[in-house]
Amino acid sequence: MALSWVEERARRISGLLSARPAHGIRPAHGIHLATAFAVASALAGLLAACSGAPAPGSAPMAGNGVTTGAGASAGSSAGASSASTGSAAAPSASATAPGRPLASQVIVLDPGHNGDNWAHPAIINRLVNIITEMKPCDTTGTETDAGYTEAAFNFNVAIRLARLLRAEGATVILTRTSNHGVGPCITQRAAIGNRAHADAAISIHADGGPPGGSGFDVIEPGLVPGHTNAILAPSHRLALDIRSAYRRITGEPYADYVGHDALDVRTDLGGLNLSTVPKVFIECGNMRNASDAAKLSRPAFRQRIAVALAAGFTAFLTPAGGATPAGQASIPGAPG
Ligand SMILES: [Zn+2]
Repeated sequence: MALSWVEERARRISGLLSARPAHGIRPAHGIHLATAFAVASALAGLLAACSGAPAPGSAPMAGNGVTTGAGASAGSSAGASSASTGSAAAPSASATAPGRPLASQVIVLDPGHNGDNWAHPAIINRLVNIITEMKPCDTTGTETDAGYTEAAFNFNVAIRLARLLRAEGATVILTRTSNHGVGPCITQRAAIGNRAHADAAISIHADGGPPGGSGFDVIEPGLVPGHTNAILAPSHRLALDIRSAYRRITGEPYADYVGHDALDVRTDLGGLNLSTVPKVFIECGNMRNASDAAKLSRPAFRQRIAVALAAGFTAFLTPAGGATPAGQASIPGAPG
């Protein structure tokens, strides 16, 4: 990626921080140090693409700044039930009415990163064990040239998707319920799905790939002996159903710079290695590509993404075809 863009981003972050010096930085650190942290964190986010390298300045976690919790009920304002408990709260009761094909299903949605990760490198850089390696607790994610962050995108898609799935009767749990917090760590994101005994889970991301590359990619777990054996087959089926629905409903092409026909198998993602339930990641598009960025920035396209992902879950969870296709649902009042 272009250094000039990195420099521009660093300048902008510095300006932001100067204008809002209390943005999550302890005053005792002083503005100079705080700015350095923020700039370093922002740079790490760029270099990390979507889910790669840590922010610099790693330090022990000073406290539990993690935001987790269960999603609100279907008709509520999305993201309103934020909690800072360090563990997932109890899910809302699932609907059991006839004609709600996902009524018995538990689905965990993991919007990648978090809106304030960039300001808390000491927290998100803490190394955690993902079996195959030690990795940072979380990363900052990427963003478009216009400054639309991946964390905000991921969360917006997640709350749209939660509404659609709840309309189908599913119990939906979010790994974070606002875009104004830090974390949770990738290990906790997996644990939330495990504790819920989710029938299926997805980690929602957008990529920070090369500007010349575009398209979407679904990532499924690879074999980590003794850990992922049991979820490989169902996760592969989930990946195929998600890929099919996403391609069909969003029109987004398969990624031309990563994966193979929009499928990837990885063993370096904590969210997959540590999952005991069927799970995939999706990179919904490449935020560093102008064409993809324009699409991902449009609320209508994000709604289309949510519809596509809901259709993928419905296909996976109701293979007999008894479901009302979520892709045909009409959802008024979708959040922007
Ligand atoms: Zn990401």
